[in-house]
Amino acid sequence: MLTNGLIPSDKIPLLSSLFDWVQISWDWNKDNNPRFWNNKQIWEKIWENIWLFINEWTKVNILTVVSEENYKNLWEIIDSLYNTYWIWDIVLSLKDSVWKADNELINIDYSLLRKNYIDLWKKYRWYDIDIPLTWTDIHSISNHPCWVSVPNFSISPNWIISSCTLSFNNNDTPSYFDIWRLENWTFILNELKVKNLQALSVLWMEQCNDCFGKWHCRWWCMYANKLEWLWDINPQRCDMIRKIIADKILFIAWFKI
Ligand code: SF4
Repeated sequence: MLTNGLIPSDKIPLLSSLFDWVQISWDWNKDNNPRFWNNKQIWEKIWENIWLFINEWTKVNILTVVSEENYKNLWEIIDSLYNTYWIWDIVLSLKDSVWKADNELINIDYSLLRKNYIDLWKKYRWYDIDIPLTWTDIHSISNHPCWVSVPNFSISPNWIISSCTLSFNNNDTPSYFDIWRLENWTFILNELKVKNLQALSVLWMEQCNDCFGKWHCRWWCMYANKLEWLWDINPQRCDMIRKIIADKILFIAWFKI
């Protein structure tokens, strides 16, 4: 189950009886996140819910969006979470909101983001913990832009089914990702739509053809590219992605860990 962590606390025992593990999508900004109206209260509520899940012996995995608000303090975020000794896994998601928010370009220091992330990744690698950052994960190799064509599916609490969790952002499912429908409690797959999604390949993207990182980055996120946020490829971001991929491969090759 994927949640923003703001579920009513009294529902946690029930949810824990249904799910072995939950993923909490948490931007981790207790002081200054303009997306939330009352940050401190929300931060404390999510933290409280995490502990309630853990007390019910449910594994908690954290998905943290690396954004314009928190990219400078990735160390603090990851260390604080792992220092609890109870968080099962942490995944960092580099969202395109890093680049574009409120229709303005955000002045992100990509070289600082790269340094903060790769130092952190190396540190945890010694403990045999991988902290993946989307589009730089060297363990996932494919020519497909993302996981939506696997086929994959997500269900929202109001029974919307989509192959893309991000498409729930706007509380609707773009028909593009609408590859399943529910009929008499049976999931029916629309094979034609899956084939259309699977036909997409990073090899068709002219701007990605010469990029050695294309098998890992795979032209970013289909939802972002097709429907929502992006205009053009950002060369600074691409440069950072390629350098992180190269750093990871060299580190593993050199130290064999
Ligand atoms: S050119 Fe940029 S978007 Fe395309 S695969 Fe390379 S890093 Fe990714």
